Amino acid sequence: MKQWIDKLRQERTLTPEEFRQLLTGCDAEILRYINKQAQEVALLHFGNKIYIRGLIEISNCCRNNCYYCGIRKGNPNIERYRLSRESILNCCKQGYELGFRTFVLQGGEDPALTNDQIEMTVARIRQEYPDCAITLSLGEKSREAYERFFRAGANRYLLRHETYNELHYRQLHPAEMSGKRRLQCLADLKEIGYQTGTGIMVGSPGQTVEHIIEDLLFIEKLRPEMIGIGPFLPHHDTPFAEYPSGTAEQTILLLSIFRLMHPSALIPATTALATLIPDGRERGILAGANVVMPNLSPREERRKYELYNDKASLGAESAEGLAALQKQLKTIGYEISTERGDFKYTTENI
Ligand code: SF4
Repeated sequence: MKQWIDKLRQERTLTPEEFRQLLTGCDAEILRYINKQAQEVALLHFGNKIYIRGLIEISNCCRNNCYYCGIRKGNPNIERYRLSRESILNCCKQGYELGFRTFVLQGGEDPALTNDQIEMTVARIRQEYPDCAITLSLGEKSREAYERFFRAGANRYLLRHETYNELHYRQLHPAEMSGKRRLQCLADLKEIGYQTGTGIMVGSPGQTVEHIIEDLLFIEKLRPEMIGIGPFLPHHDTPFAEYPSGTAEQTILLLSIFRLMHPSALIPATTALATLIPDGRERGILAGANVVMPNLSPREERRKYELYNDKASLGAESAEGLAALQKQLKTIGYEISTERGDFKYTTENI
């Protein structure tokens, strides 16, 4: 098995059969080995610095009904909210003072949040914080809307495809949603010039090893600048309430595989991983992650943005917990970087 990992580090890809063997035959020793290889690659590219992104959850209203998501339209049991522009700017102000140089505006596909409003909010942040990166994570929009946000000053866009396989996509989403449409959005975002992020849920209902291999090969072709890998975690008010969570082991295995395939990609140690296991953030970093996204949303709204059960948003997962985060990182030999942390284009990733 180690020969596939050495090959992956050297050639940055494997055949589907080699991926299958790695995904199905990975025991604790192999996992330690691949995590170590991936950590070395991340250290070579980023040193021991971890980029921080301030996450602002701007709306928990959504027109969609993804079966796995706690803020889906069909969940009547959550209190909905939408932050005003002033409130978002206030989050940015607090974040800037704390040292954040990337703001991530994340939300459901909120029909009341028009493209004009998003564009104006982006323009205001751009005007007030010219040295900061603006990342949007607001779901599927028209190409024209993506272009407008980009021209207004947004630099990055996160849109996880969740699964490349169309049949599996249908198991996770209602019929009115389309995997093809999601992939078209990703192609548009790349063409427009966004640093683009995509990714998958590990262990989502119905996911097979073959699906994961399709995801690995799709992401290899897309070459996103950011890759988000988190475990599936059930939410009690969704159709998937009774499904088991994805495992930490498979999540960090995939995280390491992606790091070896995409040495300079920005890969977060996700909140979902930190929710699944107490040392998830550290395990993610030691498996090759180089980004964390503390929560910068107003405290009173955080519990309402519950995508899955018990989502972490306090302590080291929060902006006000930066000191705790710094301390945690220090115990594993890392430190926070307050740089913007853009993707660096080099000959190796062109
Ligand atoms: S995953 Fe995103 S698009 Fe789907 S219901 Fe949740 S917020 Fe809406």
